[in-house]
Order: sequence, then structure tokens, then C-alpha cells
Amino acid sequence: MTDQQPNKPKLEIRVIPTTPLQQNTSLIWSIESKEGVFVDPGGDIDKLMGAAEEFGVKIVGVWLTHGHMDHAGAAKAVKDRTGCEIIGPHKDDQWLLDMVEESGKRFGITDGQNVTPDRYLDDGDELELDGVKFGVAHCPGHTPGHVVIYNSPAHLAFVGDVLFRGSVGRTDFPRGNQQQLVDSITGKLWPLGTDMRFIPGHGPMSTFGQERQDNPFVADAVTGYGGAATQEANKIDQKLAKRYS
Ligand SMILES: [Zn+2]
Ligand SMILES: [Zn+2]
Repeated sequence: MTDQQPNKPKLEIRVIPTTPLQQNTSLIWSIESKEGVFVDPGGDIDKLMGAAEEFGVKIVGVWLTHGHMDHAGAAKAVKDRTGCEIIGPHKDDQWLLDMVEESGKRFGITDGQNVTPDRYLDDGDELELDGVKFGVAHCPGHTPGHVVIYNSPAHLAFVGDVLFRGSVGRTDFPRGNQQQLVDSITGKLWPLGTDMRFIPGHGPMSTFGQERQDNPFVADAVTGYGGAATQEANKIDQKLAKRYS
């Protein structure tokens, strides 16, 4: 990326747990312009807007990884308060975005609202925040319209409920598919690089390299990813993963 100075970070990030499910909402903002977005504002609108205010951030967008209520529940509330655009997920998750209110009740979440994004995302699309570009990968399996949003120069991905530290997303919901999920992870995420750090929808951060080492669902030893060259690559992965631990 030519428009970024390598030694001067342009963006700042805070992770704010929301909803009783402790979903990791991310607040990303430009240090220069103070414009920011929420990735997966699941609920607790006052807490989210309070954080934006605390850091002096003007919210200009909501980016959604998928349609589950713990990720999308407060998207409409953020838009109503700020007038910002809601972008994502893939259109194949609209059926879930239409069920946010109904499904929230089952988890004791009463502040979720159904939502229709201003724009759906597709594989290969690009998002932008104050000149910093983010890539989009369509990663079905947990839900049919799940997307992962990533920034390659910063080695950072927002993976929603596709991948977790030591685990993967549930596929026992309607329209979930375990093989499709594993294919999304090995086919779309692993090529982004072993040193890619990720913020999952729940729980701690990790790196793709770490998960390729020891994640019981998608480690190279389990999936066969990388074939014969894998053993050698894994040694390098381990070093890269440690850098961020
Ligand atoms: Zn989910
Ligand atoms: Zn979730």
C-alpha cells in the first residue's frame, strides 16, 4: 500500500465486549481524521457510543461480518444516532438480519433490531477508512453470508465467528456447514499469511500461523493444508506467531 507511511500507524483500535455473549465489537479509527467505524456492534449502544465519545471518534460506518444478533444487533441503533452507512455482510445473511429481534429474545437480548445494510459485501470487495484499504473475503460455513475483513499491511483481520483461538465457528445452526467452514478457512484465510493476527467474534486474539499449528479443527496436520512442505513452514509459523503473543 503506497498511501501509508510504514512506521506511522494510521489507525487505532479498541475491542469492546458487547451483549451477554461477550461479543468483540471493534472500534477502528483514523488517528488523523478521527473518523471511525464499528465492526460488529452487537448491542449495548450506550457503551459503544460512550467509547466513541471518550476517544473523540466520529462514527462514519458500521461493518458487519455476519447476520447473527450478537454481531449485528446494534447496527441500526448506531446508524440512527450517527447517520452512518451500514456495510456488509454478504447478501446471503439477510435472512438472519431479518431475525435479529426474534433470535435475540432467546438469549435474553431485548435491544437488538432487525437491519438491512446500505450495501452488501462480496468476495474481493474493498472497504476504506480515511484512505486505509481493507480487503473482503466471503467465508461461508458458520453462516452462508459471513465475510472476513482484513488489512494486509497491518496484518490484522476481523474474522467474526469463522475462526477462534483453538476453535472454529459453530455449524449446527440452520444453514451452517462444517466442511464449507473448513474450506473457507484453509482456502480464503490461510493464503493471507501466517503472520496475520485476528480479532475473533469471541475470546482472545491469535494469528493464522498459531491456528495452523495447533487448532484441533483446522491445524495443517488435520486438514493436510500445504502438503509435504507444511512441516518446514510450520517451524517458521511458530516464530512469527510468537512475535505477537
Ligand atoms: Zn455467529
Ligand atoms: Zn458470535
